[in-house]
Amino acid sequence: PGEAYETDVIIIGAGPCGLFAVFELGLLNIKAHVVDILDKPGGQCAELYPEKPILDIPAIKSITGDQLTKQLLDQIEPFEPAFHLNEMAVGLEKLDNGKWKVQTDLGTTIAAPVICIAAGGGSFQPKKPPIPGVDDFEGQSVFYAVRQRDAFKGKSIVIAGGGDSALDWTLNLQPIAEKITLIHRRPDFRAAPDSVDKMKALVEAGKIDFHVAQIKELNGESGQIESVSVESKEDGAYDIACNTLLAFYGLTMKLGPIADFGLNLVENRIEVDTEKFETSAPGIFCIGDMAHYPGKLKLILSGFHESALMSHGAFHYVFPDKKLKFQHTTSAKDLQAQVSGN
Ligand code: FAD
Repeated sequence: PGEAYETDVIIIGAGPCGLFAVFELGLLNIKAHVVDILDKPGGQCAELYPEKPILDIPAIKSITGDQLTKQLLDQIEPFEPAFHLNEMAVGLEKLDNGKWKVQTDLGTTIAAPVICIAAGGGSFQPKKPPIPGVDDFEGQSVFYAVRQRDAFKGKSIVIAGGGDSALDWTLNLQPIAEKITLIHRRPDFRAAPDSVDKMKALVEAGKIDFHVAQIKELNGESGQIESVSVESKEDGAYDIACNTLLAFYGLTMKLGPIADFGLNLVENRIEVDTEKFETSAPGIFCIGDMAHYPGKLKLILSGFHESALMSHGAFHYVFPDKKLKFQHTTSAKDLQAQVSGN
């Protein structure tokens, strides 16, 4: 975070289409940096249906969202893409040298002749907990994501939620936090069973506390939380002391800052041509669910096709003096050697 980079193509969104774009660009010797606000690649596949089988990826009978992501990552590994995860692309600027510069909310800047927007249904953003006055504490002592684990060292933390994020961070922060209290409104969890077992073992061992309750109020001053007031069916209303609240109430997808990039939008999606999947701004392409054109189907396979044509369009910006030589992967000797490990 905070560094300045240069590359050939900046891909905004690490969903299946952004990932496959790395491959198609790589075939043409084009390097890519990938930005995503999520803490992991995979987009909707990883965040919304990691365990569900997808049945319409060509030649693959059935594959889960997580497996597809893993296989795409394997496939693009030879091209060594740089990932900027946990970062939201917030700003776009045209430089004097004709390149584009993307800025993230953590201050990273990346300059490149081409941008490929593969932002799907928009950026995943945390749902705000329905607690009155939560705004006053946001970003100071109440957080909806962990961006730097060390920032939570020595803190007395209440973690709220019952999904994978709540459980993962309970396990992850327990060794460095002063105290962890997990709160969930029900005794059941929507998280990996293994994480739930590990959390229960920590409760048994007296290393963390777990309460079945709902947070009703936050208490504190000047943005610094001192306790949360909770209500539980069995024990009524009471307070839990803490200096940090991490609330994981799920994610929603919002178009976000891309809306202000000055591109032609149709129903919150970006208008592209179907020859190169280029937007109204030369050198800015858009593929996957975010792309709008007549007949668009929001399917992974459509995004794969779009990334091949986008890459051919991008080539002319990245190598203005070169002629594109179309080549099948079956005759791409360098790639064959890399894939087979020779
Ligand atoms: P996404 O997967 O949406 O990824 C976009 C990424 O961009 C996200 O990670 C987001 O955080 C990131 N992003 C956006 N804006 C920014 C920004 N400004 N800065 C940083 N990051 C940003 N499709 C099929 O083909 N077959 C199926 O069987 C199927 N089943 C599905 C089941 C469910 C429950 C759902 C929800 C969808 C299903 N889909 C299926 C649709 C499929 O998941 C989408 O078509 C696919 O994920 C689109 O990929 P994408 O790469 O365009 O975008």
